[in-house]
Amino acid sequence: MTQSIKSFDEAAEFHGHKCPGLAYGYKAAEYALKELSHGRSEDEELVAIVENDACGIDAIQFLTGCTIGKGNLIFRDYGKQVYTFIKRDNSDAVRLSQKEGTSMGDFDARTGELSEKVFGSSANDEERKEFFERRKVVIQKILDMPSEDLYRLEHVKPEIPERARLFKSYKCAKCGETVSESRARVQNGEIVCIPCFEEYSRGW
Ligand SMILES: [Zn+2]
Ligand SMILES: [Zn+2]
Repeated sequence: MTQSIKSFDEAAEFHGHKCPGLAYGYKAAEYALKELSHGRSEDEELVAIVENDACGIDAIQFLTGCTIGKGNLIFRDYGKQVYTFIKRDNSDAVRLSQKEGTSMGDFDARTGELSEKVFGSSANDEERKEFFERRKVVIQKILDMPSEDLYRLEHVKPEIPERARLFKSYKCAKCGETVSESRARVQNGEIVCIPCFEEYSRGW
């Protein structure tokens, strides 16, 4: 069932602010949903694999309905602007990677420069003001750009990682809190959680 794609303003409301990162993620999600002719994922029909954990991921969660909590958003900590979307019925999958020459600094070198100052906390009030004004223009440029100029899209073999599973819970022998079997450790013959396990090994 195809539903309408949510607006960038709605995604910004979910994320908390408008930023270029959100715009990049918005474009990726929109492109993939159109390519897969798929609306928002109500119950795991779509799986997303994201290779960074920046602002754009909020747009992807919001538009596609793939979320960490539902287990159909898989985060791989590769630091890459790459997103794979897979249909649950294994009928299709697309992999999007951001094209070269599409960074904020490529759209406007001055915004890139100012960004370093603003986020490095060395910008004065005037520079901050200029940065946020210029950044608005960059966000609009990203949104107005044809998706195929922003992302390389290829259809790939749909390979779905294991579905979200339920695990047994155990009580940690050290802190007494409950820990899922999938994350429990054994230490001196007792079941412990990761923070307690790491505490034991600190310093050597
Ligand atoms: Zn953001
Ligand atoms: Zn513990």
